[in-house]
Amino acid sequence: MDIAYLLKPKSQRRKEQLKPTQPLPFGQLRTDHMFLIDYEDGEWQNARIVPYEPFTISPGAIALHYGQALFEGAKAFMHPDNEIYTFRIDKNAKRLNKSAEILCMPSIDEKLQIQAIHALIDVDRLWFPIQNGASLYIRPFMFATEDSLGVHPSKSYRYAIILSPSGPYYPEGFTKPIRLLITKKFHRAVSGGTGESKAAGNYAASLRAGEFAKQFGASQVLYLDAQNKYIEEAGAMNHYHIEKDGTVVIPEFTDTVLRSITSESIIELQNSLGLKVIQKRVALDEFIGKIKSKEIIEAGGFGTAAVVSPVGEYVFEDNSILTVGDGSIGAYSRKIYEYYTGLQTGKIAAPNGWLKKVEKRI
Ligand SMILES: *Cc1c(COP(=O)(O)O)cnc(C)c1O
Repeated sequence: MDIAYLLKPKSQRRKEQLKPTQPLPFGQLRTDHMFLIDYEDGEWQNARIVPYEPFTISPGAIALHYGQALFEGAKAFMHPDNEIYTFRIDKNAKRLNKSAEILCMPSIDEKLQIQAIHALIDVDRLWFPIQNGASLYIRPFMFATEDSLGVHPSKSYRYAIILSPSGPYYPEGFTKPIRLLITKKFHRAVSGGTGESKAAGNYAASLRAGEFAKQFGASQVLYLDAQNKYIEEAGAMNHYHIEKDGTVVIPEFTDTVLRSITSESIIELQNSLGLKVIQKRVALDEFIGKIKSKEIIEAGGFGTAAVVSPVGEYVFEDNSILTVGDGSIGAYSRKIYEYYTGLQTGKIAAPNGWLKKVEKRI
C-alpha cells in the first residue's frame, strides 16, 4: 500500500541524533511523526505519516465507552553498522491480528504493519538515541472510532504507530532484582476471556492489583489462575523459574496467558543458550516448596520492555517473604539477559529473519 508523507518542515525536525548525557527514561519521549490508517466501509484506507500531535475522536467513540482497543510493543536497535533493525516485528504484527480477532476488530495485513513501522522509523531515524543499551520502542495500537452508544463491534477503527526513544531499561546496570506479590485477591484473566490478547482493557483491569502490590513494596502481582492453583504470569511479563540443573520453566500458554515473544524466543534459543527451556503448568504450592528447598534457584519475568526481570523475593499478604536463592540476580538469568540483548543489538548473530533492517527511503 502507498503511504502518504505529510511531514513537518525539515527545519522543525530533529536534525541530529539524540545524544543524551543522562540515561533516557523508558517510554516517555516521542519522535516527530506518527503513522495513521483508518478502517472505513470495510477496508483500511488513507495510510499516512503525519506530525505527532493530538487527533480528534468522536465523544461517542466505542473505544472510549466500551474499551474496544488494543496495542503492541516492540523494539528497534542500532547495530555496529549504524543501521537500525526491528526485532521479530513479524511476530508483533501477527499477534496484533490475534488480539484483534479476540476483540472483534478487523485484521490489518502483516506486511502493511511492518512496512508502516519501517517507514515511520525511517522518517524519524535521527531520533534514535545514541546511548549504551538504548532502543526505539515501537507502539502500534488500534481503537474503535464509531460514534455509537449501542454495545456492538465498531464499524470504523484507527490503527496508529508512535515511537519512543528509550534509554536502557536498567540504567544502573542489571543489578536490582524485583519483588512480586503473591495474592489470591486479584486475577488477570479467566478462560474464555481476553487474557490472550493485548487488550487495553486488560491493563485497565490490572491497575488496582498493581496499586495493591505497591503497598507490599512489590512492583507487580504474580497472577494465579482463577482457582488459585497455578502460576500464570505477571501482567506485563511472563513468569519463569530456573531449577538447579539450569532448566528454565515458563508456565504453559493457555488462553489466560499472553504469548510473550520474549518467552517464545528464549524457547527457540535454548540450544544456543545451552539451557533446557520447557513449558508446563506450574502449581503454586510446588513452586513455593521448591524455592524453600533450593531446588528452584532463580525466577523472574520475560517481556520486551525489560527483557529479563529477575525476582529476588516474593511477598505474601501477611508480609512474609520468600527469597529466591540468595535474593540476588542469578547467573542463568544474567546469561539469558546478556545473550538476548547481545543478539538484539547485533553483537551476537541472530537466527535468520529475526532482525529486519530499516531501509533508507526518504
Ligand atoms: C506484552 C505482554 C507480555 C510480554 O510480551 P513480549 O512480547 O515479550 O513483550 C507479557 N504479558 C502480558 C500480559 C503482556 O501484555
